[in-house]
Amino acid sequence: MKALEVARQNKVIGNALEAKVDLYAGGEVEEFLKEMSSELATIFIVSGVELHPMSEAAAGASKSEEMELAVKVSPAGGEKCERCWMYHSEVGADSDHGSLCPRCADVVRKHHC
Ligand SMILES: [Zn+2]
Repeated sequence: MKALEVARQNKVIGNALEAKVDLYAGGEVEEFLKEMSSELATIFIVSGVELHPMSEAAAGASKSEEMELAVKVSPAGGEKCERCWMYHSEVGADSDHGSLCPRCADVVRKHHC
């Protein structure tokens, strides 16, 4: 939860889906984030969250003074999916559903069958 607070301070939460978040963590924080890595994008309400070792923390990352955590927010790559509003590099890859991400294209296809 502390990690999430830091992210909130750094205005990660509140940013729309048009962002991706790079997290740099070490020690216990890294272990904690790894355990919940599949839920991070949902928790942060962004299109993607990537976890990196603290040693890779980029110059533009905001570092926490209290623990081994740094956060960097950048614009998400790719196009916006019309259905889920997530940015995804493969939107349009499906010829039947040119404005959807692969996951939504799949869902829509199954729904119609
Ligand atoms: Zn989608």
